[in-house]
Amino acid sequence: MSGRLARLRQKMADEGVESLLVMQPENRRYLSGFTGSAGALLINQQNACLLVDFRYVEQAHQECPGWAIYEIKESTADLLAEISPALGISSLACEGDYLTLQQYRSLQDKLSPLRVEPVYGFVEGLRMTKDDQEVEYLRRAAELADLAFSYILAFLRPGVRELDVSLELEFFLRKKGARKTSFDIIVASGYRGAMPHGTASEKILQHGEMVTIDYGCEFQGYYSDITRTVCLGRPREEQEKIYAAVLEAQAAGIATLRAGVKAGAVDQAVREVIARHGYLGNFRHSTGHGVGLSVHEAPRLSMKDETVLQEGMVVTVEPGIYLPGWGGVRIEDMALVKETGSLLLTHAPKEKLIAC
Ligand code: ZN
Ligand code: ZN
Repeated sequence: MSGRLARLRQKMADEGVESLLVMQPENRRYLSGFTGSAGALLINQQNACLLVDFRYVEQAHQECPGWAIYEIKESTADLLAEISPALGISSLACEGDYLTLQQYRSLQDKLSPLRVEPVYGFVEGLRMTKDDQEVEYLRRAAELADLAFSYILAFLRPGVRELDVSLELEFFLRKKGARKTSFDIIVASGYRGAMPHGTASEKILQHGEMVTIDYGCEFQGYYSDITRTVCLGRPREEQEKIYAAVLEAQAAGIATLRAGVKAGAVDQAVREVIARHGYLGNFRHSTGHGVGLSVHEAPRLSMKDETVLQEGMVVTVEPGIYLPGWGGVRIEDMALVKETGSLLLTHAPKEKLIAC
């Protein structure tokens, strides 16, 4: 945790940020270890302060040794106005992509004549590369997802409701130690598979359909994210063809992953394979995203993302082909970027998955 604060202070010095106010929950937890649902960090080169209301004072002392804990009585802005002079604060950067306009105006108002200026993606930029502890938590979250897949594969059969599949998955994950699922579980069977984000419905699985299941879980604040598409019965020719195309595209994406490569290049590699198979117009979302304290975080593996991948980044590679009225196929894994390649964190099987 102290390494993270040191990296932050270096970035602040480099970018001329004297003092920083951090209120975004994952950023707050990343820097301080504080897991409460409300509070603010105030950081400059000399001070690391955690501002919480009375509900969290005790918890803050336990979770954040080394941080100066202040109790918020009126509002965060009032407390900041009170303590800023003694902490040598003359200008304050706040999270422009998180604060509401009302919060921002209140800060400007209460802290005047002190300058309050927004910064964007400041802590998120640091969060892109994971340290050893973060990789370990992500690995554990991925491991739980793998375990859940072998369990749910035996549960998939014609006659079962999509909702029952998602309930069964969630119960299993939580029984095994996950605190919650990463998002509403996606179970999209048959024609519903054409919706990339088709959360489980009342629809009943039918023989001959393909089922896309996209899920994950939280472990120690870190998320997993995996997708598999399973055929209920022997796949027909077109199902087989599309599945093979997605699998090949995913393999091409994973093969491209390594430090020094642009995020957009991975997307490009995936898209080339899908285009060669004639389905470019049926793959409209980006190839993947970073995963960490948020399920979806920087970088984005999309054409436009200029981020140069670095060792320690954890990203998903998740191409899909969707045909309205027919259905869809998506395959998603999480990978840790290394100097010379990548290491998959999810290992559930994906070669021609058939459930009957
Ligand atoms: Zn997913
Ligand atoms: Zn994903």
